[in-house]
Amino acid sequence: MESRGMKVEHIYPATGRPNGTVTLAGPTEIDEAVQTAAKAQREWVSLTVDRRRDLLIGLADVVHEHLGELAKLNVDDYAVPISFAGTAMLLERFLRHFAGYADKPHGVTTPVNGSFDINLVEREPYGVVGVITPWNGALVVTGSCVAPALAAGNAVVLKPSELAPFAALRFGELCLEAGLPEGLVTVVPADAKGGDALVRHPGIGKIAFTGGGATARKVLQAAATNLTPVVTELGGKSANLIFADADLDLAASLSAHQGPLMQSGQSCACASRLLVHDPVYDEFVQKFLDVVGTACIGDPMDPATTFGPVISQAAADRILTAVDTAVSGGAGELLLGGRRIGGQLAEGYYIEPTVFGGVDNASELAQLETFGPVVSVMRFRDEDEAVRIANDTPYGLNAFVQTTDLNRAHRVARRLESGSVWINQFSDISPQGPYGGYKQSGAGRTGGIEGLNEFQQVKNIRIAVR
Ligand code: NAD
Repeated sequence: MESRGMKVEHIYPATGRPNGTVTLAGPTEIDEAVQTAAKAQREWVSLTVDRRRDLLIGLADVVHEHLGELAKLNVDDYAVPISFAGTAMLLERFLRHFAGYADKPHGVTTPVNGSFDINLVEREPYGVVGVITPWNGALVVTGSCVAPALAAGNAVVLKPSELAPFAALRFGELCLEAGLPEGLVTVVPADAKGGDALVRHPGIGKIAFTGGGATARKVLQAAATNLTPVVTELGGKSANLIFADADLDLAASLSAHQGPLMQSGQSCACASRLLVHDPVYDEFVQKFLDVVGTACIGDPMDPATTFGPVISQAAADRILTAVDTAVSGGAGELLLGGRRIGGQLAEGYYIEPTVFGGVDNASELAQLETFGPVVSVMRFRDEDEAVRIANDTPYGLNAFVQTTDLNRAHRVARRLESGSVWINQFSDISPQGPYGGYKQSGAGRTGGIEGLNEFQQVKNIRIAVR
């Protein structure tokens, strides 16, 4: 009985009050979901590849018809401003992109030295894949993991975060409306207990985990029970390098919107370390602060709002403690923000966009993922120093370079220890681009052919020719 899940209230971060209930899955419901998915997967691979492709395109069409509803549910999930609702569109794009792979399964034949044998290398699905998503950007991660997993012939048990269950649950219903076999995508919101049961389940062929490093360590330990393979997409402490030759107005705008203003800094792609070339340091920092100051803070459902709350009381406490520690420890000079927002927003978890200048890269502020609207600004003298500081972190998810010098852009991009490098642009995550981390930002990729391959295992078949 105790292994069953339970119903809990969901707290809306913009008000600190409940905005719905969610039934969390326990180990029993997880087991049921995996068994149903296993049956559905057998049905799925018995369909022709043409039929699977058409069903996935149909699912993309159904998602398209419900973009507005999914965007609204995304706001209900974690109070992300509705002006940031493009993430539902990205879900559709991932589905459409990977549907195109469903009817193109391919392998290769390679010669074997000294024989006429036929040596086939083929790709097969894992069976049932467990997809564990974070609360932030949940629809994007759903797209980047569920779409390739299905296209590769797997079934999916999707475990959204207990903090963001609504859009994912609706996506599960849309899968049925689109005619996918029942159980092919089963959505089971759960907390750590349900997530752990999913990872340990012997019926799971592969886990795709997106979340924080501390949780990833637990997931990898649990996965060791059955030696289940895991692809991990984890956090970041991304550097944004502003060179003196950059278009400083454009760079200031990009840096503000990729930094504290992007989902209130709650993004794995948040450019939380701003490295500025010495000759333009003062001029650039002023421009950057000016743009950050234009944030429209308020009700996430108001289309004019660009800056919402952080996810929870616990997150607000953690972020403000990091700010206090940075101030008292002299990690840098507080240039902007640093406080909880009061007035009409006092009951929500709103924290001011916060900027520290002259930050020591060795400080906790610069080394740990704050996952809030906090950015550290640092100064560098030349390219070598910029690259050294940028790489001096355990993370390696994204890096940003602002320059008008094409030679410099190429040189620096090659030297940065990062899964993605964005030159003069935002982290425009797309189905075509493999996304993932170096170092402690994860192992494996989602997106592109690399993302498809994560959900296929390789089989070598050799036929003797005598
Ligand atoms: P989290 O690590 O707290 O939780 C992630 C997921 O793991 C949730 O669904 C949670 O319920 C589940 N979980 C918790 N304990 C578990 C356990 N023991 N076993 C199995 N599952 C468990 O992360 P979060 O707070 O939801 O998300 C924020 C983190 O995710 C940040 O570090 C952010 O950088 C990272 N992130 C990375 C990417 C990427 O693509 N690299 C994208 C979005 C978020």
